[in-house]
Amino acid sequence: MTTNVPFLDLRASYLELKDELDEACLRVMDSGWYIFGEEVDSFESAYADFCEARHCVGVGNGLDALFLALKAMGVGQQDEVIVPSNTYIATWLAVSRCGAVPIPVEPCEDSYNIDPDKIEAEITAKTKVILPVHLYGQPADLDPILALACKYDLRVLEDAAQAHGARYRGKRIGSHGDAVAWSFYPGKNLGAMGDGGAVTTNDSELAERIRLLSNYGSKVKYENQVQGVNSRLDPLQAAVLSVKLKYLDEWNARRSALARTYSLKLSQSNLVLPFVPEWAEPVWHQYVVRTKDRDNLQKSLEQAGIATMIHYPIPPHRQLAYGYLDQSIGSFPIAERLANEVLSHPIGPHLKAEQHDHVANEMMHIKSGTI
Ligand SMILES: *Cc1c(COP(=O)(O)O)cnc(C)c1O
Repeated sequence: MTTNVPFLDLRASYLELKDELDEACLRVMDSGWYIFGEEVDSFESAYADFCEARHCVGVGNGLDALFLALKAMGVGQQDEVIVPSNTYIATWLAVSRCGAVPIPVEPCEDSYNIDPDKIEAEITAKTKVILPVHLYGQPADLDPILALACKYDLRVLEDAAQAHGARYRGKRIGSHGDAVAWSFYPGKNLGAMGDGGAVTTNDSELAERIRLLSNYGSKVKYENQVQGVNSRLDPLQAAVLSVKLKYLDEWNARRSALARTYSLKLSQSNLVLPFVPEWAEPVWHQYVVRTKDRDNLQKSLEQAGIATMIHYPIPPHRQLAYGYLDQSIGSFPIAERLANEVLSHPIGPHLKAEQHDHVANEMMHIKSGTI
């Protein structure tokens, strides 16, 4: 008999907190107040505290959080922003939307995050910002990046869309760089019931600027200082997020326990397992293994009723959307190799023990036998 294992069970996360979430949504609907207001203020202040940051500005989604933070940093036409070659395309799109140019830097082979040693060679007179991503919930190595930013007078924006609750050298991700962009897309570790995003920062000027840009460039109603956009965190989503924030550490701990068991059970396999540097406390947004046999591994797991995903099958520089950059196969070989070899396994906080055992057992079995 096969145990069916979905990749991520979002309904289970609702059911666990059903009473509280129902109450929160009814409260918002009953309030008659549907833009900004108390629910948004109180989530922003709770999330800033959680992230050990002074300010949190709610916005419409993660892509807008990145875009608005870059705009607030003054990034515009012809500027350059250093980005990882190995990331979700949103990181690059935020840069392009400012009219700036994403300058890709290859990842470390063990952590899959941007390699700080390869950044300096890409810094030019046009560089404005370094934009590291904490991919899969694993913090990027920030100290050398912050040191470079200091040396060349650059800003650092972190893409933390996958890293809610992670710690770098003991301190929460949230204010190491000048600003940190968050997504509350439903599948993230802290997920809304729709779209949502935020920027956290210790810089009150940046926070003000992002607030202004995200609300039509207006601070006082019907007075518009700049040409802003409409990208606000919805009070219904804020109310949902306030409930779920209280459980984030516990749900991340469940993910960590699952990751520990996977790594233990698979320690003898010939899969490349996730690497965690001694200064990192990851939150396991994904549990990613690497193998040249990736497609076969995925097929075999599928036959055993286990859903897996590839994060990500095509790196940004190989997407049609960036065809004009003319970056042919081989221009970022590490990102390309990862795209061919990585496989994400179910690690959601609502995975049942028997489902999890089934995944780990199948993986061991497959690696020792069929492929
Ligand atoms: C999810 C994600 C985003 C974008 O978030 P949205 O809320 O979907 O716009 C940006 N960067 C990374 C690394 C992500 O995983």
